[in-house]
Amino acid sequence: MDIFCKIIKGEIPSYKLYEDEKVLAFLDVNPNHNGHTLIVPKEHYENFFDIDEELLHHILKVAKEIANLLKEKLNYDGISLCQNNYYGQEVKHFHLHLIPKYKEENKLSVEEVYNKLK
Ligand SMILES: [Zn+2]
Repeated sequence: MDIFCKIIKGEIPSYKLYEDEKVLAFLDVNPNHNGHTLIVPKEHYENFFDIDEELLHHILKVAKEIANLLKEKLNYDGISLCQNNYYGQEVKHFHLHLIPKYKEENKLSVEEVYNKLK
């Protein structure tokens, strides 16, 4: 079982930002920048090519809400959405990265970022 399925089952703890019946969003434990977030479907899909489009649409809606939350709480200067498939995809469970970008950044620990977002 991959690490995201374990997080979804609660076998591994995570810094959860959002959860509903279809998706889970949590902070990346190895962030590129403050507020680096992953959104995953609760059902296991390997990548962009096997996930269904209705669920993709839902993931994008959640992404927009999280991006607004991150803007409000962390005040990033820009934000990138990124999704890797095949080569370059470390965990073989579909995940969308939300990566805030800052002109100047005071890098915080994941826990410090999480406390700002709660
Ligand atoms: Zn999985």
